[in-house]
Amino acid sequence: MIERFDAIVVGAGPAGNAATYTLAKSGLHVLQIERGETAGAKNVQGAILYADALERLIPEFRDEAPLERHIIEQRMWVMDDESYIGTHFRSDEFNKPPHNRYTIIRAKFDKWFSKKVREAGALVINETTVTELLRDDRGKVIGVRTDRAGGDLHADVVILADGVNSTLARKAGFRPEIEPKHVALAVKEIHFMPRDTIESRFNIHKGEGVVIEMLGKITQGMMGTGFLYTNGDSVSIGIGCMLSDLMAQKTTPYELLERMKAHPSIRPLIQGGEMKEYAAHLIPEGGYHAIPQVFGDGWLIAGDSGMFVNAVHREGSNLAMTTGRIAAETVAELFKAGQPMTAANLAEYRRRLDDSFVMKDLMKYKDLPDIFHANKQFLTTYPELLNRSAYTMLRVDGVDKLSKEREIFADFRDKRSLFGLLGDAFKLWRAFR
Ligand SMILES: Cc1cc2nc3c(=O)[nH]c(=O)nc-3n(C[C@H](O)[C@H](O)[C@H](O)COP(=O)(O)OP(=O)(O)OC[C@H]3O[C@@H](n4cnc5c(N)ncnc54)[C@H](O)[C@@H]3O)c2cc1C
Repeated sequence: MIERFDAIVVGAGPAGNAATYTLAKSGLHVLQIERGETAGAKNVQGAILYADALERLIPEFRDEAPLERHIIEQRMWVMDDESYIGTHFRSDEFNKPPHNRYTIIRAKFDKWFSKKVREAGALVINETTVTELLRDDRGKVIGVRTDRAGGDLHADVVILADGVNSTLARKAGFRPEIEPKHVALAVKEIHFMPRDTIESRFNIHKGEGVVIEMLGKITQGMMGTGFLYTNGDSVSIGIGCMLSDLMAQKTTPYELLERMKAHPSIRPLIQGGEMKEYAAHLIPEGGYHAIPQVFGDGWLIAGDSGMFVNAVHREGSNLAMTTGRIAAETVAELFKAGQPMTAANLAEYRRRLDDSFVMKDLMKYKDLPDIFHANKQFLTTYPELLNRSAYTMLRVDGVDKLSKEREIFADFRDKRSLFGLLGDAFKLWRAFR
């Protein structure tokens, strides 16, 4: 006899774990299927954990979860080949509990989250891949087929939280093929070094962490960013660019990372570290316009599978947890009300998403990917001009300051023209409004 569940969740990343945990806590008979040996075994992230999304699920997580450091300082560097111009924001407010952002190592964190999911009462199977969705003769999803012998399982609803590639959603026709302009390909390394080396290098105390986000010439004109995060006894460093740009420029993110690590401002921060982990992964960065239909008869999509990533603020795992939680809450309430899992009823999920910060934020930046794609000067010319201006102004060489200002202004006009500068200011305003 085919086994039957109230709900099946595919994937044990942040979206799948949040959804399964919520469903189990609501008393539903829920099964989670993960293809990795353990939760997190196949997952890649920077990684910053945004506390709010997790706190709504597990308020006491700070006492138990494997957290690396709480972040007290955020740096944003606009890079040239030899220099960077940037902002640093550091506040002792960030030292006051409860802390709001942490660095984590996903493999450890996902394992912990998965333990909480089991404790909540869900049945979790690892090392099992869902190969397709089962549908009845009217097209309603009624379960999943797995790669195990006799591996068909039935449920009233299936939540797809299977990550950016979401082969299942594509195969079922719920989502179009991934467009290279809608995903970034990122690579990341972890360099291990003693805790006190990290603390003296980044001017922090025990438990405190620093985040550095980077853009500009490190991506060689391609749309993308770099990052460096401090963990307990390691530093995560990575870079990602839109796949379409990498393909057009015939560059690999690995080459970008090697160049980035050799940058004079970055090299000293990782010097002497022992590189132990390397990973590459896609990030869905197409924004609002790339979000597919996320509900239908008997199914819902959450997390990266639904393209829920805010690339501007580097938020992904929190959107994954939030969409997973909202999907599960929608399902649990329908169950409680005795309502069937029809598309009309599950449409409530999308309405709740529209009301949440997830859609509001993605909507706010809806034009940004296209604007930056079409205006590469923001990633090349301006970082160069800004760095050169700072260098000109700060070099004391007998030239008076007014002449320096004129030289800088002429430089900007030369590279972009007055009309171009005004146009760029308008485009920037449109991208971030
Ligand atoms: C380099 C990098 C840095 C990042 N940095 C950050 C950051 O600092 N902060 C942040 O918030 N976000 C960050 N992100 C984004 C974040 O990692 C993702 O948004 C988040 O992991 C999405 O969670 P998810 O659960 O939707 O998908 P995933 O974490 O990808 O999980 C999907 C799961 O589904 C499983 N699966 C897939 N197909 C099947 C199948 N057919 N059957 C069974 N199981 C299946 C996979 O094995 C996987 O465990 C980063 C991403 C990358 C690549």
